[in-house]
Amino acid sequence: MADECIFCKIASGKSPANIEYQDKDMVAFWDVNPKAKIHILIVPKKHISSVVTLERTDEKLVGEMVLAARQLARDKGLEDDGYRLVINAGKHAGQVVEHLHLHLMGGGPLGSMG
Ligand code: AMP
Ligand code: ZN
Repeated sequence: MADECIFCKIASGKSPANIEYQDKDMVAFWDVNPKAKIHILIVPKKHISSVVTLERTDEKLVGEMVLAARQLARDKGLEDDGYRLVINAGKHAGQVVEHLHLHLMGGGPLGSMG
């Protein structure tokens, strides 16, 4: 846990969030400033600052995060029309919170990335 990290605080229950799912390794909660009708963040409980600092031993954790996002998408009825999973890393991607998080966005057209 990093002391001043907002996602560590949410993961440990010290700061409030609208939590949708959690297990021993991760927590998923609604983005406070949503960019899509459905916008949920999947966050490891362990403090990892970014994809940039991921280690080989985090391989299973990241896989589980993607599978949890898929399950949330399923639960929210997003599978037929589709959804987007995004991880921002660093300045050019606009990463604001320096604790790894996977964005799940859907519920309407998301615009093209190409
Ligand atoms: P990123 O730009 O990938 O770092 O995204 C950070 C996301 O975290 C943004 O979409 C913010 O709206 C969201 N966010 C920041 N603080 C909170 C919070 N306390 N609870 C929920 N979402 C948050
Ligand atoms: Zn953290």
